[in-house]
Amino acid sequence: MAAPCVTVDLGVIERNARAVTAACARHGVSVFGVTKGTCGMPQVARAMLRGGVIGIGESRLENIRRLRAAGISDPVLLLRSPPPDLADETVRLADLSLNSELETIEALSRAAERRSRVHEVILMVDLGDLREGVWPPELMPAVARIVVWPGVRLVGLGTNLTCFGAVLPSAENMGRLAGYARRVRAEFGLELPHVTGGNSSSLPFLLAGGMPPGITNLRLGETILQGGRDTFFDEPWDELDRSAFTLEADLLEVKVKPSVPIGETGVDAFGGRPVFPDRGDRLRGILNVGREDVDVAVLHPVEAGVEVLGASSDHMIVDVTEMAPPPSVGDTLRFRLGYGALLAAMTSEYVRKVPMFDQPPPRPRSIALDVDPGLAAAAVAAKAAARIAALNLAPSPGGMPARLTEHPSARLVADTGGDSLGLVWLTADAGLLARLLELRPRLAPENIAVVGLREASDLVRGTPLSVATIVDVDARGIRDVMRRALDAATAGTRGYLLLCEAGVHTPGKGLSEREAHQATEAVAARPGLLGLEFTGLTPTAVPFACDLLMSALGRTIL
Ligand SMILES: *Cc1c(COP(=O)(O)O)cnc(C)c1O
Repeated sequence: MAAPCVTVDLGVIERNARAVTAACARHGVSVFGVTKGTCGMPQVARAMLRGGVIGIGESRLENIRRLRAAGISDPVLLLRSPPPDLADETVRLADLSLNSELETIEALSRAAERRSRVHEVILMVDLGDLREGVWPPELMPAVARIVVWPGVRLVGLGTNLTCFGAVLPSAENMGRLAGYARRVRAEFGLELPHVTGGNSSSLPFLLAGGMPPGITNLRLGETILQGGRDTFFDEPWDELDRSAFTLEADLLEVKVKPSVPIGETGVDAFGGRPVFPDRGDRLRGILNVGREDVDVAVLHPVEAGVEVLGASSDHMIVDVTEMAPPPSVGDTLRFRLGYGALLAAMTSEYVRKVPMFDQPPPRPRSIALDVDPGLAAAAVAAKAAARIAALNLAPSPGGMPARLTEHPSARLVADTGGDSLGLVWLTADAGLLARLLELRPRLAPENIAVVGLREASDLVRGTPLSVATIVDVDARGIRDVMRRALDAATAGTRGYLLLCEAGVHTPGKGLSEREAHQATEAVAARPGLLGLEFTGLTPTAVPFACDLLMSALGRTIL
């Protein structure tokens, strides 16, 4: 795997989410899963939702846009209040937001009214950490203002601790928050379902049984994503797994060198004056990541015998003297990341993010074939039937799910239920993209790979689709193009669909007959194909489509 990259084990995240939501539920506390450490990666949000969180917490509208584009329609809580002039966008993207300024809440109310919506607001109270929140004496007057604004509904009170002032949760401050909620309920007749008592740093306090009744929610990121590497620093909670994220980087140089620089020393590239203990000659390695990508102070090597010495902007220096056997140039080293390193790596454009399930994709047991009348249906069916029988699959008992397009087509669909699917789309023209996303709202654009494009609509430009034009196919070859397309379609998905538009193979202009075969053979070799559809077929194109279909079924479709 070409490094540097961060692999994201979605199974670990799902299990961590399940562990924290179960523990919180025992104390009557619900959980928003916070994805900001991954820049709102939709696969991560889905893993958290499978693990039982009631919604997703995000601090940036850009990240919420990414979640929504991927079809996530569960409640999303905006954690950082928006500036008033982003009220409209906030109301459009988020269901709820944490707020502490009346001016902003009033702007949210007006924006929501314009959209005939009601936006839910959780009012933050500052209990002493000195980040966001109204000062307690101002709480009741603030509520009195909010309840008359028609576009917002006050659904809770919240607080943030251990962020700026490093104030810890306690029976005293949590009890005060619960008390404020009781007063607001009594005085204004509100329900206030969400009394949200903080972030991951409140979890140890809850587990120790200290959380007073009346706190009904927590917003948890670090404990779910990182297994509490920072939160349970001294005493790990053994229900959490810290191995969800792994940074992989390649060794560019491996040489024996002295441990102390030679020559007069000044300041380093970042203005520091480094001091090096003399340990004699050591085997040192240089990796292809640097401060641009990661906070090297909080990297934890996975391989034994690796010690991080430091980094400049693009190079990280490690001591590998103790590694057995000693590493070579080109070898990959792996690291776990503290929260700061995770944030930096997930934000760096130079680090690939590779979400993956810890389970192989499911192997469907049944399959359905559906051919438009008039397309030599019997011939297609007969040819496919033999292959299906050879693959030992039962015909699907249920009906066919919605078709991907409405053009004459032949399709073969295994189980396409559920979310987290990717799509490889062999097509000359992506004009049907909008229709496709409408039919399959849970298909994330970042898991759609288009191959063989000759006409790019504006729709395709500026979306996170992975696109290879016919020129890319000429330049890189279909094998490489398909490898990357399949990487995109399977990144953190449970399987993928193949959609093949007949016009992609147009003699002299589009994919050649051999390239089309190679493309479908690449599909056959990649596990996880759950369905395929050939569209835009004319009766004369059917025999070729049939050949491709067989080629995609190859040995491994199922
Ligand atoms: C980031 C954030 C959280 C989540 O913090 P973790 O320590 O990752 O659990 C919760 N609430 C707010 C307001 C945040 O900004």
